[in-house]
Amino acid sequence: MTECDWCNLSEEDKKYLLCESGYWSVFLADEQDYIGRCILVLKRHCGSMAELNADEWNELRELVCKLESCLKAVLGAALFNWSCLMNSFYKAAAPDPHLHIHVRPRYDKPVMINGRAYTDGEFGHHYALHKSGAIPAEDREEVFIRLKERLKC
Ligand SMILES: [Zn+2]
Repeated sequence: MTECDWCNLSEEDKKYLLCESGYWSVFLADEQDYIGRCILVLKRHCGSMAELNADEWNELRELVCKLESCLKAVLGAALFNWSCLMNSFYKAAAPDPHLHIHVRPRYDKPVMINGRAYTDGEFGHHYALHKSGAIPAEDREEVFIRLKERLKC
């Protein structure tokens, strides 16, 4: 699958790789609309959750536990919105999706990063679809360092 971006991540793409297990990679997402938002990417080309094998599911379960516990401890997340969307792949004439799963940590109180307060104004509701995910580079770096220190895949 040489055409697939997710099968061919550059070193630049991997800059925010938090950790890697046997079957999955965990990245801090480019979009930080919810602080600590991450993406879990399966390390083989596979188009849907239904096609995961038992080992990949088991490892995913372990990763969900580790990541939730890390996001709670490091950032104070209160709950987690997990989603497997895949919509953008289906804009192509011949969709060839690569399985990845988003997690948006949700917060009942502000998260402080480098003296800036990030508030989850929609807490208790569906995550916002058009919220800006841009945060200062130094804040993203700080979140990355804190999570990376704690998360062991
Ligand atoms: Zn792929």
